[in-house]
Amino acid sequence: MNKGQETVKDYDAVIVGAGFNGVYLLYRLRQEGYKVLLLDAGKELGGVWYWNSYPGARVDSHIPNYEFSIPEVWRDWYWPERFPSQVDLNAYFKHVDEKLGISQDVRFETRVSSAIFDEHNSRWHLRAEDGFAVSAQYFLPCLGFAAKAYIPNIPGMGSSEGPCHHTARWPKSGVELKGKRVGVLGTGASGVQVIQESAKVAAHTTVFQRTPNLALAMQQCKFTKEDQDKLKVDYPDIFKRRNSGQSSYYDLIPDERSAAETPEAERLEIFEQAWQRGGFHFWAATFSDVLYNTTSNRLAYDFWRNKVRARLKDPELAEKLAPQEPPHPFGTKRPSLEQTYYDLFNQDNVTLVDLKAQPIEAITPQGVKVGDELHEFDVLVLATGFDAGTGGYDRIDIRGIGATRLSEYWSNGVRTHLGYGVPGFPNMLSLYGPQSPTAFCNGPTCAEVQGEWLVACLNYQRDNGYIRIEATEQAANDWVGHMRSMQEMTLLSEADSWYMGANVPGKKKQLLFHPGVRIYLEACDECATSGYKGFNFA
Ligand code: FAD
Repeated sequence: MNKGQETVKDYDAVIVGAGFNGVYLLYRLRQEGYKVLLLDAGKELGGVWYWNSYPGARVDSHIPNYEFSIPEVWRDWYWPERFPSQVDLNAYFKHVDEKLGISQDVRFETRVSSAIFDEHNSRWHLRAEDGFAVSAQYFLPCLGFAAKAYIPNIPGMGSSEGPCHHTARWPKSGVELKGKRVGVLGTGASGVQVIQESAKVAAHTTVFQRTPNLALAMQQCKFTKEDQDKLKVDYPDIFKRRNSGQSSYYDLIPDERSAAETPEAERLEIFEQAWQRGGFHFWAATFSDVLYNTTSNRLAYDFWRNKVRARLKDPELAEKLAPQEPPHPFGTKRPSLEQTYYDLFNQDNVTLVDLKAQPIEAITPQGVKVGDELHEFDVLVLATGFDAGTGGYDRIDIRGIGATRLSEYWSNGVRTHLGYGVPGFPNMLSLYGPQSPTAFCNGPTCAEVQGEWLVACLNYQRDNGYIRIEATEQAANDWVGHMRSMQEMTLLSEADSWYMGANVPGKKKQLLFHPGVRIYLEACDECATSGYKGFNFA
């Protein structure tokens, strides 16, 4: 849809966000006969895969987990590699568009700045930065968890003479790294990926590390058409398992035993097998108690550490990248996947600066000052992550009943029912938002299972003649309590991670995403089968 071509201003639903979640929801709601418009700030479909175009950007969910289960989409789509790149993902979204005709109902380059609930008509009024206005019965935010880049408040930030870019706002025209002196701030998933590319071509790459990334071997490989044709016979079953299974990946199933109680030889074999299978297998498919039991967790860490240290020549450097004592329990920060990350630190043109020893003092026009030393750069990369989960919501002036702002309502912590609805914000229903599995769930799985729940919920309202749905305070209290008990059950709160909102100074530390996909899906089923308990209808 081109700007200015919209003829309708009143919709049944307006979705905001054209990533996996928004695209799936639009596709399904249209099928059900709803009049839907999708708005996105970007110029193309893809969500994070549109924005994160930095060198090396790629998924860490192996194929065919990371794609839609819609037969007309997967049937004639082939990936070149087991872990596709951002470029492949862009091509995939174009394919999705060709098959499903999504763009005809999307208004691109439309950044929504406000969403105001009209209590008398039970409708939402949305306004975009360019003045575009639209109203709808349902406001369906599909903002993803990464809609707001996090840029640390370091003195002098923005003063660099050379290019300085956050990975999620990488210029589409690219940034030349070849032969340059490149500095990379941050060693999360994006940092690891960009460092791997920079180390191949830059004159020198300096890596600023605050916390070592407990990165896992990706075990990337080419994926031929023949490989995929063989597997496609099982795709319907694979997708069924993926969408109903315990981990949202069809093949990430841990051993039910405790790592600590399994005889050593057997335990090491299970660890080794998971390591060789690559990707998230070592994180999510070894033993079920690794994220719960301190002893089991330490065994996984020590295995990881031995693997990594075997690749590092300098013992001092090895201690910084894979320390004797874990910086946090293994797996409580999302492990990144790496291909050459640990090997590249053996190169002469790569330096690690340990910010735990001495923090950054300032950014200057020439580079980054740490203590007395000025590290000079031609290009500075901010791989500093996101104000995850809530950041995208905070950027929109969302007002519910009594003009209450969502950011105020959440100022003491996020409160939702099942991550879908918020008390006082009727007819606003989110996918992949805070307090749903989101970052613990494979993206397309989440889009489909939450999307189906939401479609069924809207159909329930339509069939019963309701025009308004609102989560109750009691249900939100219960869900907040449930999230707290999930937090206490796991080791997750022991890490200052973005899962906990702890990467952004001043943000309330709370578990932002539900870590148990199966438990979450059971709660959603229970809610739906009880006539959407915890929601009031009018
Ligand atoms: P997104 O893809 O984040 O899309 C949200 C959209 O909302 C964006 O296009 C944005 O422009 C739009 N938007 C937000 N605010 C506004 C506004 N105010 N107005 C208009 N538009 C707005 N997940 C996995 O499961 N496996 C992976 O391997 C994986 N890799 C990842 C790698 C990176 C670099 C990142 C950042 C995330 C990764 N994720 C991964 C998580 C990823 O976010 C999900 O897999 C999935 O893409 C989420 O889709 P979404 O539709 O919910 O949100």
